[in-house]
Amino acid sequence: MDYITRNIPASKKKIALVAHDHMKSLLMSWVDDRVEQLKHHDLLATGTTGSLLAKQTGLPIECLLSGPMGGDQQLGAKIAEGKIDVLIFFWDPMNAVPHDPDVKALLRLAAVWNIPIATNIATADFIMDSALLAQDYSTRIPDYQGYLIERTK
Ligand code: PGA
Repeated sequence: MDYITRNIPASKKKIALVAHDHMKSLLMSWVDDRVEQLKHHDLLATGTTGSLLAKQTGLPIECLLSGPMGGDQQLGAKIAEGKIDVLIFFWDPMNAVPHDPDVKALLRLAAVWNIPIATNIATADFIMDSALLAQDYSTRIPDYQGYLIERTK
């Protein structure tokens, strides 16, 4: 696989927020602590997470479908289209969820497209306090056109 770069501008990052049910209160309190920073970015979330966060913070949040109803897959598609810069995804390491294949797919696409992913508070804090969050950043992504040319020779 060859790679190209995608430029992520300094101004606003597109930050996706997701939490499984047992992790929602953790995400809510983390967002409360980070609301002053988060309000400078474009936020989107799966349905329930996003609705709860919008109610709690008053921030504009694009709400996709609820995770088990297809929201994780919508997020994955946006990642593949280069429409998400950071994924904060507090998945539940202690309880099974009905949409486990979708969770795996979302994590896989985030890895394929080189998206920073926080799956816990500590990583979320490190990402939010990174100097890179306020800078232009050239991220390495798969060269899809090259991939297609190779496959259709
Ligand atoms: P929800 O989905 O925000 O609609 O609860 C999250 C998930 O389970 O992926």
